[in-house]
Amino acid sequence: MSFCLDEYRTQGIITVTIMTTPANLRLTNHELMTEAIALAQEKMLAGAGGPFGAIIARQGIIIARGWNQVTSTNDPTAHAEIVCIRNACTVLQTFDLSGCELIVNCEPCPMCLAAVYWARLKRIIYGADHSDAAAIGFADAFIYQELRLPNEDRSIPIQQIMSAEARAGLKLWLALDNKILY
Ligand SMILES: [Zn+2]
Repeated sequence: MSFCLDEYRTQGIITVTIMTTPANLRLTNHELMTEAIALAQEKMLAGAGGPFGAIIARQGIIIARGWNQVTSTNDPTAHAEIVCIRNACTVLQTFDLSGCELIVNCEPCPMCLAAVYWARLKRIIYGADHSDAAAIGFADAFIYQELRLPNEDRSIPIQQIMSAEARAGLKLWLALDNKILY
């Protein structure tokens, strides 16, 4: 397939467009999701990566946008949500996104879900779910299944070695005076 964006629009396949919103406009969840879906479609068709787009908003005001850039940046972690979290943290100059919400066109994969917890976002609003992602060839559902398995049954082996030495290094953190807790 090599349709361009305009051809998809002409055919009615794409009906949403990335907004140029004023900075302080408060949007509804429906409007924010429309933007996430538009981002996903337009950036995918522009060759950025997979069909995923995310918004981080605070009280309806868009703080940051993100879209999948795995293949264009050779970064397997460049999922829309991760990119969006990084952008929001840069905008707000913090690693703590408490009070912000993630709006994403597809349910987050386990990596992105964990990142939401690390970033302390207060809510996730998603469109399609991870079985929809599986249906178009993405591993989200498989990884969710793997997480439910004991270590020895997972497809990627996980093995513990040198635990005493590793623990000694961790204890240095406790003694560090000027550490920033997160
Ligand atoms: Zn993800």
